[in-house]
Amino acid sequence: MEDYQAILQVFDQHQSFALSTHINPDGDALGAELALYSFLKDLGKQVKIVNTDATPRIYQFLPFCDEILTPDAYQGDSPEILVVLDAGMLNRIGEDLSRTLIPIKATVNIDHHATADLFGDYNLVEVEAASTSEIIYRLIRQHGSPIGKERALCLYTGVMFDTGCFRYSNSTPAAHRVAADLIEEDISVDEVYRLVYETVPIGTVHLLGEVLKTIGIAPDGKIAWLCATQEMFRKTGTTREDVDGFINHIRSIDSVEVAILVSELEDGKSKASLRSKSFIDVGEIVAEFGGGGHQRAAGCEIEAPCDEAIAQLVESTQRRLSNPKSV
Ligand code: 5GP
Ligand code: MN
Repeated sequence: MEDYQAILQVFDQHQSFALSTHINPDGDALGAELALYSFLKDLGKQVKIVNTDATPRIYQFLPFCDEILTPDAYQGDSPEILVVLDAGMLNRIGEDLSRTLIPIKATVNIDHHATADLFGDYNLVEVEAASTSEIIYRLIRQHGSPIGKERALCLYTGVMFDTGCFRYSNSTPAAHRVAADLIEEDISVDEVYRLVYETVPIGTVHLLGEVLKTIGIAPDGKIAWLCATQEMFRKTGTTREDVDGFINHIRSIDSVEVAILVSELEDGKSKASLRSKSFIDVGEIVAEFGGGGHQRAAGCEIEAPCDEAIAQLVESTQRRLSNPKSV
């Protein structure tokens, strides 16, 4: 595993870079990517960002986000260096993109997922980091460059998002120190919060109503689940990205240890999100289904309709609950 200086040396010794991050990019993925983009640009590098999925509406306030290219719009020669951010496996940037975006020299993998498979030629993977944005913050600091207001806005968004607004167990002293330093750059924390969490269209609230009606709960109350169908998205004029955060409503139930939210995809498959409260490692559960993530937040795709996917995930969770291993 590389240290910060080794990664900075790779940056220093090359001229052209492509940056990418995981499909359905979130606040940390985009925050880390855009801050690194700005940093490399300031070093005089040629940099392009290419993401499989579009930037969700709520993150379109982030500086430089207009620079993000779709795979179709990405033109030109292969980059010398591909930097993949916040993705535990290369195919998380999208199957097609992971096959076509081949760097001439090397791939740099910067991430904090416990399930990371270290696919890079250079890997800066810090599982203790609460977010990839925290790692990018440290990289810029190690270089001795200023953070500045724009990069601070990107990185703070990432730290805020991945710590669940400083509520999750990864809200370490280090994460708070990074946040404090970023706030010193004169960003408005209440405005960032509002832009990310309080700009919800009415359709999303209607969708929440529909999804909450599907609640299921195990007889002992320790597992709760929700299902979001294509029909619900159609009816409320929403998409799958609008379910973000819904899972917290069922994790917050007093008896619940594991919350599961399954969304129906267009092709008959399902996308699952899992959250745990204090002792079950949901990263291990989704690993059985080819997914990944962290101990308390993880996800996977399952080639089955919602009901069946929920049944499989509940079964796997129940097995672990009957034999809990403290993590
Ligand atoms: P979410 O449930 O919010 O989509 O994701 C929670 C965590 O699990 C994030 O760190 C995310 O990157 C990871 N994750 C979600 N879905 C998948 C998946 O299909 N595969 C992998 N490897 N990780 C996932
Ligand atoms: Mn992250």
